[in-house]
Amino acid sequence: MSILSTEELAEFVTSIDGVLAKAWPSAHIASQDADGSAIRQIWLSAVQQGWTNLASYKALDAAITACDRLGRVACPLPIMDIYVSAMMLEKHSYLVDQIVDGTIRPVVAVSRKPTTKLQFVEAASAATHVLELVTETGEARLCEIVDFTTTPGLAKPDWAEVRLEDQPIITLDPREEIFEDAKVLLRLGLVARAVGAARRTWELSLQHAQDRVSFGKPIGSYQAVSHRLVDGAVDLTACEGLISQAIESYLLGRSNWHLSCELAVEFSAPAAIRTQFGGHHTLAAQGYFEEHEAPWLFRRINTDVALLSSISPAEGQVADILVEGNVRLPFLELGSQAEEFRSELTQVLARFDNNVPVGHSWDDANKAFSIEAVKRGYLTMAWPASFGGQDGPAEKQMVLTEELGYRRLSLLGKDAADLVGTAIIYYGTPEQQQRILPLIASGNFPFYVGYSEPEVGSDLANLQSKAVRDGDEWVVNGRKEWGTGAHRAEWIWLAARTDPDAKPPHKGITLFLTRIDRPGFEIQQHRSLSGTISSSTFLDDFRVPDSDRIGGVNEGWKVITKALVKERVIMANFTSGLLRLLDDMLCEIRKDPVEKLGTRGSAKRALISELASRLQATRVLLYLSVREMSIASGSARLEGPMAKMLSAVLHEDFGKAALHIFGPAAALGEGLSDVPGRGAFEYNLRFSIRQAIGGGTIDIQKNMIAYALGLPR
Ligand SMILES: Cc1cc2nc3c(=O)[nH]c(=O)nc-3n(C[C@H](O)[C@H](O)[C@H](O)COP(=O)(O)OP(=O)(O)OC[C@H]3O[C@@H](n4cnc5c(N)ncnc54)[C@H](O)[C@@H]3O)c2cc1C
Repeated sequence: MSILSTEELAEFVTSIDGVLAKAWPSAHIASQDADGSAIRQIWLSAVQQGWTNLASYKALDAAITACDRLGRVACPLPIMDIYVSAMMLEKHSYLVDQIVDGTIRPVVAVSRKPTTKLQFVEAASAATHVLELVTETGEARLCEIVDFTTTPGLAKPDWAEVRLEDQPIITLDPREEIFEDAKVLLRLGLVARAVGAARRTWELSLQHAQDRVSFGKPIGSYQAVSHRLVDGAVDLTACEGLISQAIESYLLGRSNWHLSCELAVEFSAPAAIRTQFGGHHTLAAQGYFEEHEAPWLFRRINTDVALLSSISPAEGQVADILVEGNVRLPFLELGSQAEEFRSELTQVLARFDNNVPVGHSWDDANKAFSIEAVKRGYLTMAWPASFGGQDGPAEKQMVLTEELGYRRLSLLGKDAADLVGTAIIYYGTPEQQQRILPLIASGNFPFYVGYSEPEVGSDLANLQSKAVRDGDEWVVNGRKEWGTGAHRAEWIWLAARTDPDAKPPHKGITLFLTRIDRPGFEIQQHRSLSGTISSSTFLDDFRVPDSDRIGGVNEGWKVITKALVKERVIMANFTSGLLRLLDDMLCEIRKDPVEKLGTRGSAKRALISELASRLQATRVLLYLSVREMSIASGSARLEGPMAKMLSAVLHEDFGKAALHIFGPAAALGEGLSDVPGRGAFEYNLRFSIRQAIGGGTIDIQKNMIAYALGLPR
């Protein structure tokens, strides 16, 4: 078994790209290889480079990496067919040797019955044999190719219809698992190649968006174009993350590696196609003509995805595996330290109410657990040890929010510790740190965030509430909107304008943390669609001591952005909430799968497969962002907002799907007997909108990603 290090994988990529640069330098070659000379040359190089021997080392990471690189130049070298053939013929070393030295050049095809004629065969001009997987008998037959006829169409080079010798060289009767392993690996290889091709088109369209000027501006500065590129970036990053996760699962021999692969396939096939079409929309006419690489990449992606349906796994789609196999989405590991903490936490949580009704966690947090969590230092685990914390890495914090989110529990005071506490540690004075941090650490620090105003939401830098200095105090006038928890708060985390003329305006904002039980403060409550209370608060000559200023005058923006970083870990809470929702849905479905979803192949099963794969993609992105936060000390620039974007839309789609699958019963609220999901489905539907707004709307997340991608504003 091989798990290549990052450096080894990078070396392997360089070597593949070096070979391709000589023998198949760009996607255009796909149009020029009618006689098959280029594909034969590449196959020869593959032999010389040892790529035909990857199965001997179980080097799936290398094989899939090769698929990705081949996809980028639309090259049909069937590297996974070679891998799978060698894997299945493992016990017949004389045949494996011939695959390795290129005497046998196999492609794999799936057929229902043994046959001598096969359609849709790639690279037939270079192949010598077909390994035929016969689904009815479970046999694998290695047959020599007699001749072939090309079948022109979308595929370039053309697919072929091949004629095989009547008598196979060998007929294998592999164990069923190996037969299925082969199919799953072939499918993963196809999507990896399609994703590689889509990545190339996306890179070309990103470049085009930066260079091409229209109506006097680079087209990348138009939001329609930049958001399309962002959608592609999110899709591709998620595809690549899921594919890596599937490889890891295979290499570590996890029992559910098929499911990991199928989740990657389920998400990546449509995502690669979406991204390719999006790329064409950006490249417009330039990308439509054959001088450009895009048309050849387009053919590669669409034919690779089309081939998937000719290789259906017996286990069925993702939904079939989840429902019939009675399994959950594959677990994602966060490293040994974090996982040790998960075991400890799970034991602690087992002693508390793990059945908190949905929607109650905001108001009726499990107080008993919160007291225990304070004692154990969970509340402040992210703080530096010098401030009484545990220097807890992002992974451990993620475990905490995940495990609580899954159980719909909340830890009282966690927002205060994460948002306010972190900012005070970085920007507070020693006096403020001494005065406030112990209050926060006690778990009893009711506060609310005073950022939004009637005229200001996303464009926070333009906030208008004014604070004017008066001796040792500031006099604040203005109105703050949607302050969640303000009706129970004792403190406000207040952003106010202290320089009305600042340019840019964010340089005129100052941050205060102050008590609200003073004259000049009034409150008006609003109940949201999900039932939470947020309030308008009116500040009328409201006096704030200067000792409550956090950070320098007009330096509030730095403080705000520091506090926002934590929001990404907090978000994990919502993703694990979705995992819980999926588990609740599956639990309900398993009571009568056919009644709830229909038989295999139904649209409702397809919907569950899609939701499950999107959820796994979101989780993978979140894990990547947390890892990046640990490495780059706090900057998860891309994956954080990407995960947020995916999770926001997913909440809405889960809500809609529940009503679609369970009908009116899913619209019933918690409290009635026998309500599907104990009311979680209808609550989630109402709550989902909030996910698309809070912590930055989806559009704002896209703007942030576009900026990080280097697109012009
Ligand atoms: C349940 C809930 C609780 C909240 N709690 C708090 C709280 O405790 N404290 C607090 O301060 N605030 C709170 N908010 C407010 C929240 O922060 C804002 O709603 C959010 O920042 C968006 O602002 P807005 O609603 O004013 O929308 P706007 O900013 O007015 O946006 C309206 C629409 O325009 C789009 N848009 C705006 N600018 C751009 C742009 N540059 N590019 C593309 N599209 C753009 C947005 O995406 C959106 O679709 C809460 C909101 C909700 C829903």
